[in-house]
Amino acid sequence: MSYLMSVSTDKPEDTAFVDSSDSSDKSDNKVDIAIIGGGIAGMEAALTLASKDRAVYLIEKTEKLGGKSAKLKELLPRQGVTLNVLHQKISDIQSNRFIKVFTNTELDSIVGFLGNFEIVIKDMNDPDNTTELLAGAVVVATGFDLMDVSSLDSYNIKNDDEVYNALEIEEMLSLNGKILMRNGKEPASVALIHCIGRQKVGYCSKVCCDYLLKIAKLIKDQSPKIEVTELYKHMCLPNKHDEEFYEQVKGKGIDFIKIKNAEITGTTINFTDIADAKKKLDVDMIIVGTAMIPTVGTAELGVELNIDQHETGFYQEAHLKINPVSTNTDGVFVIGGAHGPVGITESMLQAQAAAGKIFTQLIPGQKIIPEVKVSEILEAYCTGCQTCLDVCGYGAIYFDEDKGISIVNEAICRGCGNCVGSCPSGSIRTRHFTNPQLYQEVKEALR
Ligand code: SF4
Ligand code: SF4
Repeated sequence: MSYLMSVSTDKPEDTAFVDSSDSSDKSDNKVDIAIIGGGIAGMEAALTLASKDRAVYLIEKTEKLGGKSAKLKELLPRQGVTLNVLHQKISDIQSNRFIKVFTNTELDSIVGFLGNFEIVIKDMNDPDNTTELLAGAVVVATGFDLMDVSSLDSYNIKNDDEVYNALEIEEMLSLNGKILMRNGKEPASVALIHCIGRQKVGYCSKVCCDYLLKIAKLIKDQSPKIEVTELYKHMCLPNKHDEEFYEQVKGKGIDFIKIKNAEITGTTINFTDIADAKKKLDVDMIIVGTAMIPTVGTAELGVELNIDQHETGFYQEAHLKINPVSTNTDGVFVIGGAHGPVGITESMLQAQAAAGKIFTQLIPGQKIIPEVKVSEILEAYCTGCQTCLDVCGYGAIYFDEDKGISIVNEAICRGCGNCVGSCPSGSIRTRHFTNPQLYQEVKEALR
């Protein structure tokens, strides 16, 4: 096989082609897929993959599928998704012969690369009970958590105060069908506060404004006489139907106040409005729109899967705009809340996108052609010092105990060249950057 050097001269006709027939090996690959996380994103990916007869292992930490979406009473209007659809998805998964669900289960270990991952999962109730799986790709759909408001200095809240986050309200609605206080009575006044923790985490959680509007509407639908106030710093309404929904909610007699900051003590809010006036609001109940944060265990799972985290703690995509569901490790994809704050629609799109990538990268009966831009270790020169193992950020080099030398796994190597300079015996070369290629480049440049 011939391939194009990544460094070329400025004239197309001078581009150097180099024979690399020794790179023509193909790897055997598996086409089954492991999905970590059985929330809406993981379920959508599983169903999309299974629709083309791909075997899917759906690994869920909790005892049931559905994730946080399963706790919702009603999804945001006009998103094209209803709770019946969600329940239908759970039922479709349970009856799908291509999907094997493991609940109360988590990843124990994983080694391998695109087309060949060896995965061990363990029963969380019985850690000695492990199962080995082989998969060609891994989809991470571990979701998000909500920030604990009590961790913020400006919020002095006790456990029994009438302060709830949006998911607690959803659980209350699922249980009672109504928003009620702990004493079982309907609140006479409710304040909804947006952007809680946004400053601390340093990003917008994207869905909370829409979400709090939905809850405000539910309260007014429950009882128009309940006084509802929304205190917001930013009103983030990015979707095409949001503005119309905002006007609809406003029309229900809700008081919207733009604020600079707020402090909560119990159910008393001291805030500064945008005219710098200091005000106080006493209500029966507070509902907070808290920041979405990475789930517990995100860092540990990232290390296990060899995928990078963004500074926010969510997993880092390969490229925010042009490769948003891939990661720095080929064959590992990230979707839904594990990727960052997303709503249900975006989670579904990401799940379908990851499935599409897998369909094109893992084709039954076809072998994966290894990347040609890889390094190799010349066996005859390697002294086995293992220096190179530490410099490879992709974990692509392993030490062969029998031969006493290091070896590059071409399926993992990204051809970055870091290892080349680290080798004291000069036994590593990048196949796409060999001396003959460099000489050719210099020759062309000087011509
Ligand atoms: S640094 Fe060089 S000599 Fe040492 S193990 Fe790696 S390839 Fe072999
Ligand atoms: S070229 Fe980069 S990715 Fe490949 S083995 Fe060397 S350090 Fe690792």
